[in-house]
Amino acid sequence: MSRVSPRHPRAESLRIRERLVDGFRAGFVVPEGLSAHGRGEAFDYIIGERTTAQASKAVRAAVAKLLLAKRPVISVNGNVAALVPDEVVELADTVGAKLEVNLFHGSAEREVRIAKYLREHGAKEVFGIDRKFSTKINEIHSDRRKVDKRGIAAADVVLVPLEDGDRTEALRKLGKKVVAIDLNPMSRTARAADITIVDNVVRALPLIISEAKKLSRLDRAKLHKIADGFDNTKNLRAMVGLISRRLKKISR
Ligand code: ATP
Ligand code: MG
Repeated sequence: MSRVSPRHPRAESLRIRERLVDGFRAGFVVPEGLSAHGRGEAFDYIIGERTTAQASKAVRAAVAKLLLAKRPVISVNGNVAALVPDEVVELADTVGAKLEVNLFHGSAEREVRIAKYLREHGAKEVFGIDRKFSTKINEIHSDRRKVDKRGIAAADVVLVPLEDGDRTEALRKLGKKVVAIDLNPMSRTARAADITIVDNVVRALPLIISEAKKLSRLDRAKLHKIADGFDNTKNLRAMVGLISRRLKKISR
């Protein structure tokens, strides 16, 4: 049961925070994850806490990319597990993607907890836990470079709902196509990705799933048309434009 009154004007935003705090207490969200969420919230506040038409366009392109992929992988960190556990599992099933626990603040214990939580939410297989299959991305010079040989290391398309800029850039250097979900259209992640959905993961994931169910009926030529016709620079410019118009309106 939520501790937030439904009459509170910011009830939804507070409920999302509660989920993160619960994840923190359960030991799979780190304190840094809570503040990273705060950065996202600030952008969400300005955007109006809704999915924009521009974000919906990015969702369509992202889904086409995922459906065309040979080895798609969804990268899951603590915040993602806390916010959208059912949705990442359902999306993996819908587009035939693998799930991999991949943490910025890595710890074997936390990885195992997140994998267990995803299994409780229906995941059959979760990569990123078994040391036997662990390999390293040379482009990243820290303990954050570990990936699974069967997962991200072998992937052609990686969905990163909430990621750090360094790692997104490293995935691109490895030749992966990256789909990011990030509320900040100016972040390095947003700029490095091939397709950036500027929206809250809690709204974006359900939309991606319903779009995947629709687009899975299309043939590959049509999917290519949708994916290839998407220009991420234009997309991010449009989102920055929207934010600046909103700020002008609010400050009037
Ligand atoms: P970058 O490393 O890409 O330049 P950053 O250092 O500003 O970004 P990080 O802490 O690395 O930020 O990553 C957190 C990112 O996730 C931020 O850009 C933030 O806006 C975004 N974010 C946080 N919570 C959400 C959410 N619920 N939905 C979508 N995006 C979010
Ligand atoms: Mg960062």
